[in-house]
Amino acid sequence: MKRIHLSLLIVLSVFFVQCSSAGDKTGQETTPQVKNVIIMIGDGMGVSQVYAGLTANKGSLHLEKCQFVGFSKTYSANNYITDSGAGGTAIACGTKTKNGAIGVDVDGKPVKSILEYAAENGLSTGVVASCAVTHATPASFVAHQPSRKMEEEIAVDFLNSDITVFIGGGKRYFDARSDNENLLDKLEAKGFQVALNMDDVKKVTTGKLAGLVADEHPALYPERGEFLPESVQAAINLLKNNDKGFCLMVEGSQIDWACHANEKDATVNEMLDFDRAIKVALDYADQDPNTLVIITADHETGGMALTGGDLSTGEVEATYASTGHTSVMVPVFAYGAGAVEFAGIYQNTDILTKILNLYGFGTEK
Ligand code: MG
Ligand code: ZN
Repeated sequence: MKRIHLSLLIVLSVFFVQCSSAGDKTGQETTPQVKNVIIMIGDGMGVSQVYAGLTANKGSLHLEKCQFVGFSKTYSANNYITDSGAGGTAIACGTKTKNGAIGVDVDGKPVKSILEYAAENGLSTGVVASCAVTHATPASFVAHQPSRKMEEEIAVDFLNSDITVFIGGGKRYFDARSDNENLLDKLEAKGFQVALNMDDVKKVTTGKLAGLVADEHPALYPERGEFLPESVQAAINLLKNNDKGFCLMVEGSQIDWACHANEKDATVNEMLDFDRAIKVALDYADQDPNTLVIITADHETGGMALTGGDLSTGEVEATYASTGHTSVMVPVFAYGAGAVEFAGIYQNTDILTKILNLYGFGTEK
């Protein structure tokens, strides 16, 4: 009698497994077309940084809403450990390049970024960063320069790009330049509304926006207030006007700097600030089901390890093995249309290929 029950159980199990996989297949076939992509990069955000934030927040993060998780391999073309220039370029342009390079391949040749593919296809595009927009990560999505140090040249690339909105710091590379050019005037001549503080940024809901709210970098959280989540909301408000869709890159820039400094509390503050920005993106994806949100990192910073903690008090105990970057794989969290494509282990450069396929832009580079 027991044996009969066991056989029945096995038959039923097989039946349910088959049913559920058939259901998954149908689910995938009806996945909405990807129209909007929001790429969110926590600079230096490895699994420890994520879990430090989760612990400090007493057990939860908004990013846990993501349905699919993968890992990306971050090494650059010339180094086991990438910098943010090569890491950003890999994600933005789908090519492994030398450390320090911005939007160019190993031979220094410009490589088209996801924002440029999107603009060519009639989509609106944007960049939001809690650092200078000319800094390595945001620059990788817009500029093409052999070195991340060329921030004045990178500012010119912003001026000459087809970008719809950018919000961050770095004003001095536009209006206090060694060539005495005033790129803010030139941006206005090209139809940009130039906003130099958050009140003015929030007033702009149509057209093109250059939001440069700090000479160099916005302050460390909490001094900069809700700059990052508010800027993500402002950028989305503007980008969603395009019926064809949009592509937006958001960077939580200073997780990296907190980890270079081996500052646990700053790491947690920056991680939670980034998570609040993530909530804005996930909320938009809930309103518009043709939206894909990808949350990842360019590399891990600090070799951060959590050596203790308390989920009820939010206490985090951490040590750092390094004041630099490390080589470990970084998580890729995905939510919304096409999110299933981001499960698995793959190269950081595959992220671009997956996005191009989901948009339906093809994969020629
Ligand atoms: Mg960065
Ligand atoms: Zn760094």
